[in-house]
Amino acid sequence: MACYIYGSYSGLFWNFRNSSVNLYQIPNACTIDLLFRIHHIKRSLIMELEHIENDDHYIGLSVNKGIEQPPTVNPYMDRKRRARKQFTAEEYADGIMSGNRTMLGQAVTLIESALPEHHELAQRVIELCLPAGGNSIRVGITGVPGAGKSTSIDTFGMHLIEKGSKLAVLAIDPSSERSKGSILGDKTRMEQLSVHENAFIRPSPSAGSLGGVARKTRETIVLCEAAGFDTIFVETVGVGQSETAVHSMVDFFLLIQVPGTGDELQGIKRGIMEMADGIIINKADGSNIEKAKLAQAQYRNALHLFPLAESGWSPKVLTYSGYYGTGIEEVWEMVYEYMDFVRANGYFDRKRIQQSKYWMYETINEAIKSSFYHNEIIEKLLVEKENEVLRSERSSFVAAKEMLATYFEIMRKK
Ligand code: GDP
Repeated sequence: MACYIYGSYSGLFWNFRNSSVNLYQIPNACTIDLLFRIHHIKRSLIMELEHIENDDHYIGLSVNKGIEQPPTVNPYMDRKRRARKQFTAEEYADGIMSGNRTMLGQAVTLIESALPEHHELAQRVIELCLPAGGNSIRVGITGVPGAGKSTSIDTFGMHLIEKGSKLAVLAIDPSSERSKGSILGDKTRMEQLSVHENAFIRPSPSAGSLGGVARKTRETIVLCEAAGFDTIFVETVGVGQSETAVHSMVDFFLLIQVPGTGDELQGIKRGIMEMADGIIINKADGSNIEKAKLAQAQYRNALHLFPLAESGWSPKVLTYSGYYGTGIEEVWEMVYEYMDFVRANGYFDRKRIQQSKYWMYETINEAIKSSFYHNEIIEKLLVEKENEVLRSERSSFVAAKEMLATYFEIMRKK
């Protein structure tokens, strides 16, 4: 006869299959003794007895047999990760100069790394690669989001690759510091280039100040040139912050505009327009062709108002369609015409020397800033002083002066 014990301590029941006997009906002394015994044997008995839920007459919720729970800690966690081989600067440089893309990618990662030992190694690799660099056409490409930068880069890139070029696409994204993600230079946006063996695409370094990010891109250019890439695109978003940085690392600055946004009438982004060596109006297809032509005329007129550039080159305005691939040949004819022009008048070399000077000062500024802001004492002091300024207890100038004095004192003692 199957027998079950169930219920709470306040109401225990014997269940003889079809009939229950309430324990409170049994004389008192006997009940207490029985309850006491039941209490002690309950745990061991219950393990051996059948679950009441599985009784044919039970109408409550049933309990399914459980399964063993997976461990909460990954059992493979202690398995050693295969350490990436750390090459010497010479090995990296040799690999890059022989066109090894994996080595190139790893060296760029070193450039982007925040670790001091990586930084040192990266600088040695750059120094070794410098003599093999410098022999490419560097083109900056800017335009507001949606202007068609990635579509155009994909089309331009394939056009150049078909003519025998090797292309590297790099990017400077000033917004990525905040968003911690980078859209520019994103491979998924350049469908054809991303799978082509003669294209190397690298998204914008996402950490650090704009100056820091731009410096890393500039250093990456050196490595890409050493790896044999003869055309370098540096993509940026045309919102006015990063153009100066890009302008100071490229030979030709291309501004992508779209017809009908009204920019051409308002003359906004004047600073960017002044930097441009060529303005190209995208989406000149379908019903947009007329609007594109109108925008072309308006940009041409606007450019007449600007003083002649130092290069002596008068910027051109062209229309094209990145999506349909029309007008592409003309865009590149313009770029090559410019290159011949500035090489002939000596501006090309002058500009590159000026750019080297610019980057020397930028690197110094960046290093000083980083040394100041990453100093442990200054980091704590900054919080303190900032609060004092916010509470109007101290003027911003006095607070800054005090922190600088502390910093110089720390440096003197070093
Ligand atoms: P980005 O944000 O500047 O990189 O712009 P995208 O390349 O992502 O393009 C933005 C949108 O414009 C996409 O929907 C593209 O399909 C479209 N687009 C790009 N180029 C052209 C073009 O030449 N013609 C037309 N009609 N649409 C284009």
